[in-house]
Amino acid sequence: MTEFEIEEEKREILRQYRKLLRHAKPFLKDDDAKIIKKAFKMSQEAHKNMRRRSGEPYIFHPLAVAQICVEEIGLGTTSIISALLHDVVEDTEMEIEDIERHFGKKVARIIDGLTKISGVFDYGTSQQAENFRKMLLTLSDDVRVILVKLADRLHNMRTLDSMPRHKQLRVSSETIYLYAPLAHRLGLYSIKSELEDLFLKYSEPVKYAEIVDKINASKAPRDRFVRNFINPIQKELSKRDLKFTIKGRPKSIYSIWNKMTSQEIGFEKVYDLFAIRIILDLPPEMEKAGCWQVYSVVTDYYQPNPDRLRDWISTPKSNGYESLHTTVMSKTGTWVEVQIRTKRMDEIAEKGYAAHWKYKESDQSSTESGLEIWISKVREILERENASAIEFVDDFKHSLFNEEIFVFTPKGELKKLPGGASALDFAFEIHSEIGARCIGAKVNQKLVPINHKLKTGDQVEILTSNKQKPNEGWLSFVITSKGRTRIKDELKEQKKSAASEGREIVKRKLKQAKLELNSENLDKLLNRFNLKSALDFYYLVGKGKIDPKDIKKIKSNSEKPRKSIQQTYSDIESFQRTIKEVTGEKRDQLLIGEDMDIVQYSLAPCCNPIPGDDVFGFVSTHEGIKIHRINCPNATELLSKHGHRVVKAKWTSQSEVSFLAGLKIRGTDRVGMMNDVTKIISSELKVNMRSIAIESENGIFDGSIQLYVQNTKHLEMLTKKLENIEGVEEVARFDIH
Ligand code: MN
Repeated sequence: MTEFEIEEEKREILRQYRKLLRHAKPFLKDDDAKIIKKAFKMSQEAHKNMRRRSGEPYIFHPLAVAQICVEEIGLGTTSIISALLHDVVEDTEMEIEDIERHFGKKVARIIDGLTKISGVFDYGTSQQAENFRKMLLTLSDDVRVILVKLADRLHNMRTLDSMPRHKQLRVSSETIYLYAPLAHRLGLYSIKSELEDLFLKYSEPVKYAEIVDKINASKAPRDRFVRNFINPIQKELSKRDLKFTIKGRPKSIYSIWNKMTSQEIGFEKVYDLFAIRIILDLPPEMEKAGCWQVYSVVTDYYQPNPDRLRDWISTPKSNGYESLHTTVMSKTGTWVEVQIRTKRMDEIAEKGYAAHWKYKESDQSSTESGLEIWISKVREILERENASAIEFVDDFKHSLFNEEIFVFTPKGELKKLPGGASALDFAFEIHSEIGARCIGAKVNQKLVPINHKLKTGDQVEILTSNKQKPNEGWLSFVITSKGRTRIKDELKEQKKSAASEGREIVKRKLKQAKLELNSENLDKLLNRFNLKSALDFYYLVGKGKIDPKDIKKIKSNSEKPRKSIQQTYSDIESFQRTIKEVTGEKRDQLLIGEDMDIVQYSLAPCCNPIPGDDVFGFVSTHEGIKIHRINCPNATELLSKHGHRVVKAKWTSQSEVSFLAGLKIRGTDRVGMMNDVTKIISSELKVNMRSIAIESENGIFDGSIQLYVQNTKHLEMLTKKLENIEGVEEVARFDIH
């Protein structure tokens, strides 16, 4: 490098620095400029011997990141200092303590956060997920960490050219996976679309270049079109003395590419290549009326598509986005999207979080914004530490969904949920305990099951029961992080408690065989049942999936192959033999409840018998004895064709156990009918419902309920009570399949 080149470099660094100060100037207070200078000098000194891969001095990078923070995100002094110093702890000799000494706790914490989330990891690895989780943890600390990180990532993406190909792919895939959705969620639209475009540039270079070329080639006719389109609107708005600007905004390259690939169409077929944006300059109190006035003008000239009206002014998106969108038919027969908003809304849309704050400070009356609610929600999820990092990221990605629906509580309070959310999601949204106890919901006065998908405008009332408990199946239709985390926590708890019961059983069984529960015996048991963890083993015992009787068998040592029950019983004789061997008595009847330890049996899922039912046992080839009801639809065949495999069976005392039964209710519908039904079931009789589905048509009410009862007496009592409800005509048991 020549002396001249070095001098030129120094001058360029100073130019960049001055540009930064110029942009920051309007909001600098007291000593701010001095402190920024100090940070700049310190960063320059720390990085003085480092160059970026492109060959330029390293200091250009922190300067550029700081510039993005100011110019494109609208951040202030603390962020500028943090951006200038964001890589010094990671890459140089400087320590976090040095930062704190010079710039105070706030800056030190931000840089500490940034240092912890540095590095790039491959998508889908737990390391990357952990990294991401850490990053989100900083949200609860200071959201500026994420904003500076986004600025850092944006600059790295802008300068990705000098990186080797494999690094380009890694960095850009991480960008599209995490950073672009995060930018979107924080309302940073311009950064989000630039990140997406850059992702495409490196992941699909040929397609990217193709689209860029075509956009450029179609520019002249497009500009002409926009001019013709806005001409009458412009005139009319000027007449009304409104201050405004109109832009024809091209869609991002990435969104065009997305449309082309998802709809398998060519560039020419993407009709909405651009949107018209009308930005008004109005004081806050006139914003809404002003925007609708413009809407009225636009639709005087062009016919709107009624399905495409979006009013995010009355109900802003939860990332703070406000705007009025309509799609209208142009004179040449193409649909054109028109976005109407004020300067304030536009700045929030482009710059997101920071701009939002700027306006909020001047407006004390504004309520908690959607974004803040979101951040506090993220915080809530993060505070539960037991979810694995990958699980967490997957759940979290759900909450980054673009689409949102707006639904209402019975009192008319608005709740925002991701598109595809179920009634149960709504219940969790209200309160995690309400979610955990939810048995159904009324949507627009109509009873629906908990997995019912909600739509915008639905009014939802949640029905709960104290006996309800979350189960695994819920995870297939709960999509909000809050709900999923709560369900998973609960399942873990349930597993733990089943396992601790199982452990007691194991201990008892070993004691009967004069063995101790020590690690040696535990190993033998795990071996025998081919399991890896003690928790799994205890859990299976606790759940009754492992026959406790088999536990003792480790005494008679493991050389003997395990005789499984399924092999033991092929007919009724072998059953009687075993009963005699174990109990010493001669009987041909299975005592349900008492013989649990002796033979393997289960209740047949085709008729779900409950205590009190007339039943028989059927020796199945693989799953031990199945208990069927005498009036089971399969009974005739089993009894007639396979008589030799039928075992008499009788219920013995069963306490504290619940059995699944189904009830059908028919009657004439009336207001409050459903309430009366659920009240009797869950409050009065304290019965736990598994599911409830009701249809009401032409005044006829037709419902089926699955619930847990103790025995037939219990079920009869319930049936009587339900029959007594006004309007109910028939209550009958049905088989659950
Ligand atoms: Mn950096």
